[in-house]
Amino acid sequence: MAAGQHDFEFEIDDKFFDCFEHSLVKKGKLTASVKLQKQETMLIVLFDIKGSVQLTCDVCLSHFQSPLLCQERVIVKFVNEEWDEETDEVLILNKNDHELPIADLLYEYINVRVPYYTKCEEQGIGIQCDPEMLARISNTEQSSLEEENIDPRWATLKNIKNN
Ligand SMILES: [Zn+2]
Repeated sequence: MAAGQHDFEFEIDDKFFDCFEHSLVKKGKLTASVKLQKQETMLIVLFDIKGSVQLTCDVCLSHFQSPLLCQERVIVKFVNEEWDEETDEVLILNKNDHELPIADLLYEYINVRVPYYTKCEEQGIGIQCDPEMLARISNTEQSSLEEENIDPRWATLKNIKNN
């Protein structure tokens, strides 16, 4: 690759996530613009990722689309020998390596943005938890409480109290 800037664009869809067995994101539609700035001993890679991913709400269990926008930068250094100063920001490649693991980086950038706790109102746009599902979930919780009440151990305790 010649020195200077090289621009690439990648379309990321469900098939992309299928390639990563442990991906938290299974479905999405994103575009990644990647700018490579090639210099003599290193490569500066700028990522601009835009689109949306499908998340599952932890409250009502609905699937919904959540916008995802991120910009990342990685510096790739080419060295003659193994060098262990690799960080999130600096990637070390052997001089003989000709491939940059773009797909792995994109996968990582997208997956680290999946929130630990997902809720329609928080990560969705203009949506709220499905009221029907919420009603169904709270009914299930209620009936499991009722089951606890008729648990024979509790029944025994109740008898003691009444005496
Ligand atoms: Zn929800």
